[in-house]
Amino acid sequence: MPNNRLNEPSSQSIIFEKPTLTHYKSNKDYVIDLKLPSKIEFTHSQDRIAKVIHIKLTGILFKPEEYRVSMGLLTSFHVQTNKGDSILTVSLKRPLRYTIEWKEGHTLSLTLKNIMSRTSIRPINKDVIDFHFKTFNVDLHNDLLIHMFMKNISLSKGNPFTQCDMNRLQQGGTQALFFAIWVPDFFVKDQEKYHFYKHYFEKFKQYKGKPFQLALDLIAKLKEEVSKNDSIKIAMSSDDLINNFKHKTKSALMGMEGAHPLEGRIDRLKTIYDAGVRYIGITWSNSNAFADAAGYTEHGGLTPLGERLIKEMMKLGMLIDVSHLSDKAFYDIIKITQSDYPLIASHSNPRKLLDHKRNLSDDMIKAIQKSNGVISVVYHSGFLTKNRRATIEDVLDHIDYLVGKTSINHVALGSDFDGFIKTPLGLENMSRLPNLTLGLYHRGYTFKDIEKILGTNFLRVFKRVESLRHKDPGG
Ligand SMILES: [Zn+2]
Repeated sequence: MPNNRLNEPSSQSIIFEKPTLTHYKSNKDYVIDLKLPSKIEFTHSQDRIAKVIHIKLTGILFKPEEYRVSMGLLTSFHVQTNKGDSILTVSLKRPLRYTIEWKEGHTLSLTLKNIMSRTSIRPINKDVIDFHFKTFNVDLHNDLLIHMFMKNISLSKGNPFTQCDMNRLQQGGTQALFFAIWVPDFFVKDQEKYHFYKHYFEKFKQYKGKPFQLALDLIAKLKEEVSKNDSIKIAMSSDDLINNFKHKTKSALMGMEGAHPLEGRIDRLKTIYDAGVRYIGITWSNSNAFADAAGYTEHGGLTPLGERLIKEMMKLGMLIDVSHLSDKAFYDIIKITQSDYPLIASHSNPRKLLDHKRNLSDDMIKAIQKSNGVISVVYHSGFLTKNRRATIEDVLDHIDYLVGKTSINHVALGSDFDGFIKTPLGLENMSRLPNLTLGLYHRGYTFKDIEKILGTNFLRVFKRVESLRHKDPGG
């Protein structure tokens, strides 16, 4: 019954104090009280859970002639009255946003189920949403491909357990994203250590000892899935990105997460570059022939082979991704690239806000700034907060910190969607991206600023690296 649901302990309250809805504060329960203007609009964050919204009108009996609900996204709408209150139950077809128009002067309580902590409910500013959908944006890290490959999931449809598919890219207004070419061959070698990935083992047994083949097969799978959709194309250059964007076509890019599929062979770099891979994260969580991963010291940082890899990548004009590397390997790379070659951290956060080996120290952040590169904020709760599920506010805190430490020119986005489970409230999957733009706007970022974070900072880095192609770094 709606009435019981309203009293569920897992609710929280947000009180909008001004009819303009630009300010709110949170309390213990999840009821929004509003002095209503004649029209309100909200986004809300719960894709899988809050498909039903209960709206409680305190102290007034609901009279149908006093409201108008825009039905575009609603499938059903009914009213129940109780002790002088009215409760409206609203089902949403597509829970991105909804609009309610009302007579002025009433108080509206809006209850959203299952929102566990600070919530992302924000008033929609239509200009901001319009801006979002018109603005170039790029996500530097997404792990959907391995799931598509493993479980034969289609890019068009995804499945209920993935955080990304064409629909959600559409709903979120995502323009471009890097699919990770991530090769988990070592699971087979090292089953005990990676026991939490045991569901992968069967499928990957055939690739035992053939990680390079698996990388090529992943690339082929992505191309096959992309070719089935008219609204997305493979992009291999900054020009491709811009052209696709102009033609309202999304871009699929490729970044390799961990250089281990090369099996120590530098000559294979050209093969994957020609296939379209534009960045390489030198390691994933496992160390390899080229470098130590975060938290490891066995090679003492970058190996001599790793040094050669970096120099060859620079010749090709490939992006060098430092996420997942050990600190020592990071600084070894800086020694080679100096400040002439912009680096990216495709999915890493500042260590100052969460002390984790996968996050970056202030000094590393400054070094990336000095290279004129970008740090892409990752949405994984485990890299945002300790001991609780993160919310979109934490993601915004990390962005604020990075902007404060560097400038507006060195921050980007690298969701890592489909690479983790604990998503932040408000950014549960790709369709939630407009919430981030709204959040930035409400924190005082201008459209120009937001444009940089969403996409043009990365574009600058991509162009610069392309322009350095074939330049011999020497040594
Ligand atoms: Zn990762």
